[in-house]
Amino acid sequence: MEKVSLVTFEEAMKCSRGESYDCFSHYVNPAEASLMKMADLDRRYTRASGIFLYDEAGREYMDFTAGYGALNLGHNPPEVLKAVDAARTLPAVLLAGYNPLMGALAKNLSRLLPGELSMTSFGSGGAEAVETAMKTALASTRRRKFVSCTRAYHGLTLGAISLCRSERNLEALGSSACETHSIPFGDLEALEQKLKPKDIAGFVVEPVQGEGGAVVPPSGYLKGAEELCRKYGTLLILDEIQTGFGRTGKLFAMEHDRVQPDIVTLSKSLGAGVVPISVSVTTPEIWKSAFGSRDRFDLVVSTFGGNPAACAAALKSIEITLRDKLPERAAELGEYARKRLQEMCEKHKHVKEIRGRGLLLGAALEAPRILGGNKEENLTAMMATRLLDKHGILTSYYDLDPSVVRFEPPLTVTKEQLDRALDAYDEVLGKGFAGLGLGFAKKMISRAVMTRSG
Ligand code: PLP
Repeated sequence: MEKVSLVTFEEAMKCSRGESYDCFSHYVNPAEASLMKMADLDRRYTRASGIFLYDEAGREYMDFTAGYGALNLGHNPPEVLKAVDAARTLPAVLLAGYNPLMGALAKNLSRLLPGELSMTSFGSGGAEAVETAMKTALASTRRRKFVSCTRAYHGLTLGAISLCRSERNLEALGSSACETHSIPFGDLEALEQKLKPKDIAGFVVEPVQGEGGAVVPPSGYLKGAEELCRKYGTLLILDEIQTGFGRTGKLFAMEHDRVQPDIVTLSKSLGAGVVPISVSVTTPEIWKSAFGSRDRFDLVVSTFGGNPAACAAALKSIEITLRDKLPERAAELGEYARKRLQEMCEKHKHVKEIRGRGLLLGAALEAPRILGGNKEENLTAMMATRLLDKHGILTSYYDLDPSVVRFEPPLTVTKEQLDRALDAYDEVLGKGFAGLGLGFAKKMISRAVMTRSG
């Protein structure tokens, strides 16, 4: 092959903000790149540790997005890195055989999850676990349809995206990969109507909607859903990919309502954000009916699923989560943060509502009517820009409800860091639309000038 000029690893590690933007924009996703640039989120972070990020000029930021739930332990937790390193002596991939960490992790999960949930299938990303859960329900019930909720987010692979039935997705893809029906989150009557014909394989639901805008369902909803699913022979699939491992104040959010799903999906903080790992866990009975024969057992295997590095990260991250009582910490600090956000809600007129549970929180904003149309998205984006620029706090809006500003720090956040962020939110929320708009415009002009002058 002719010698081509390639970027070396060392060069890639050293590339500047501008070079990084150019490569992403040209070769990955131009639309995303320009959106990031517009909101000034295209910063070049060179280091991350705990809640902190550091840019190329050495400025420190606090991360209040926590990888949308993937960083409950913060960035690069040293004990997890060490465990992953120690596991490097094992065969990294072993398909004719299995690594010892996989069974150990599955055993631990079965001890921590409620009821009969004890059979684990491994994957890498969250959506992959949702696919496995859907496959399990199809193979076990021999039914073909699913029910999910409006503003649900389950990932972007073909099966998972079929569960996120937004107009935008349907329009972009033309159709969905499997027959799914969408009902309002929290509405048991609507659920019963859909389940009555007894042809629904699974009802897939988040115990607290994450990307839908930190929405907690009415009390009793999940228990009611469990009863309806049993009555009509539908499997209850709880997606705890974002809520799992302490985020909402319990190890799993389903514990708030003492629900026992038939299948649960986990990912994100399971691997502490260090190595991708996801699982779909079900009962032995369901697993057996779906995959328990020689011609079906391999329907739930994948090359990297359950590899030693991923399992090491998961074993260690669970150990730390329990040892450091992170669920209890999320409950306590979450309650404190919620109270302070609630005070801001009463003080600043465009803050409509504070939502969420534990440290999965959000402030829902309302843009002034006078502006006409739906301007909340602009308001939250400008807020995020000011939080980053003035206060060094990284946040964003929730993807499926851009009117809600995210407040989702690592669970290792200290009270002092929380207070610093809350003071910053207070300042920014107090700015209002006009104040934020003016600041944003000034910032854009100065960036344009800087870009022009090289
Ligand atoms: N399910 C939930 C509840 C999520 O929040 C996400 C991601 O944010 C996913 C599934 C998809 O996970 P992934 O992006 O790893 O595929």
